[in-house]
Amino acid sequence: MAHGGDFDVIVSGAGPAGLAAAALCAEAGLKTAIVTGPVDPFEKRHDPRTIALMRPSMRLLEHLALFDESLKALSNPLRKLRLVDDTGGLFSAPETVFDARDAGWEAFGWNIPLEDLHPAFARKAKELGVVFIRDSASGIAPDRRRLVRLQLASGDEVAAPVVIAADGRASPVRESAGFHMLQHDYDQVAVGCFFSHSADHEDMSTEYHKPDGPFTTVPMPQRRSSLVWMMRPAAAKEVMALPADELARRIQVESHGDLGRIGDVTAPQSFPMQTMTAQDFARERIILVGEAAHAVPPIGAQGLNMSLRDAALAAELIGDAHAFGDDPGSEEICRTYDRLRRRDVFVRKAAIHLVNTALLTDFPPLQAMRAGVIAAAAALPWVRDIVMRQGLAPGGESLPRIMREDPAGASPAPSAQENPAMAESAPSHRT
Ligand SMILES: Cc1cc2nc3c(=O)[nH]c(=O)nc-3n(C[C@H](O)[C@H](O)[C@H](O)COP(=O)(O)OP(=O)(O)OC[C@H]3O[C@@H](n4cnc5c(N)ncnc54)[C@H](O)[C@@H]3O)c2cc1C
Repeated sequence: MAHGGDFDVIVSGAGPAGLAAAALCAEAGLKTAIVTGPVDPFEKRHDPRTIALMRPSMRLLEHLALFDESLKALSNPLRKLRLVDDTGGLFSAPETVFDARDAGWEAFGWNIPLEDLHPAFARKAKELGVVFIRDSASGIAPDRRRLVRLQLASGDEVAAPVVIAADGRASPVRESAGFHMLQHDYDQVAVGCFFSHSADHEDMSTEYHKPDGPFTTVPMPQRRSSLVWMMRPAAAKEVMALPADELARRIQVESHGDLGRIGDVTAPQSFPMQTMTAQDFARERIILVGEAAHAVPPIGAQGLNMSLRDAALAAELIGDAHAFGDDPGSEEICRTYDRLRRRDVFVRKAAIHLVNTALLTDFPPLQAMRAGVIAAAAALPWVRDIVMRQGLAPGGESLPRIMREDPAGASPAPSAQENPAMAESAPSHRT
């Protein structure tokens, strides 16, 4: 489609979600720019987070040929997920292990250090021709020529028919466009760090459910693991102030010695816990992606997995419109994106909120319900199967094509001119 914009699509925010969206848009043949914001995405900066990316997200990485041998060597497969009820309450659930082999998979996914994943996304986006604008978005302005003008801190402006806002929880683009956010702050923070251990983790992540929130170990290569420990802010202050050897001892006690002797603990960092969701995920040529659209506590490894589904769907819808000569920022595209992403995000947000609240509450029926669901998963293979499959991603057509198991889903955007049958073999989200 002919338009007077500088680019076909502009992404605001070069975090992992924005870079994934930009890389996929460029790969679909769109003239794509990304406004990086204050952080250099190519630079490796220590981050205490590892990201458990599930099978559909791994298909996105493989589609972009991003999970190369060097990134793989830094990552660890996730073959088992174990839940331990450590509440000591009246309603205790039995220990439950979800094994990927029970679903016929080799692994649920891979655990990848964010400090390596983030620059890998940046390098891939650059290789695919994304233009990096080293500036910060300061606001947006409507334009009667079916464009959005993105205003930059330097005083410059860039325009495109559609803007993807991936500029984080405080998203300046989202705020400038007046999207309404629903927000709930928990009286909790998550403390993250890496550590080594003497026992084998067996490629298993363990989530210990404690009264102040989950304490989760996630396997890394060479007898190391990352920790996500959710707790009350006052307790976090104490934990963060502990000398490394004392923190190692605490981790050993909290994990009941399951990983043997703990050592080499890296400097912990804390993250405030909240859920945030936008009331609209897309409108008026602006599509919200990643934490600009939704943020959830790190329970069940959902955050970036959901964000990569945002990125893939946004790129798919915009790429298809481009291939068909349609307006990539149309009302129809915004509506389709909003409908499909809302379904996925709201279900997961509700499940995470329920698990977290059921741990923090003194209300027995809620405690009993949490224990009951885990007990059912422990006892009934069909319940375990549903939990495992739904825990990874939504099924069917809600999933962007490149993330589907079905090989037809890995096809490039259907082009009516090149192959009219392709739209049928790989169902499109166009409505
Ligand atoms: C302890 C912990 C463990 C986690 N573990 C997992 C896990 O195992 N699996 C999982 O899926 N998720 C996990 N998550 C969630 C995951 O870390 C986040 O969802 C993800 O990092 C957010 O990426 P993003 O790109 O949406 O946002 P961000 O990384 O916040 O990126 C936003 C970008 O916007 C840029 N920006 C800011 N202002 C501007 C501006 N004015 N103009 C342009 N750009 C701007 C910023 O510089 C930044 O680069 C975890 C989170 C925590 C806290």
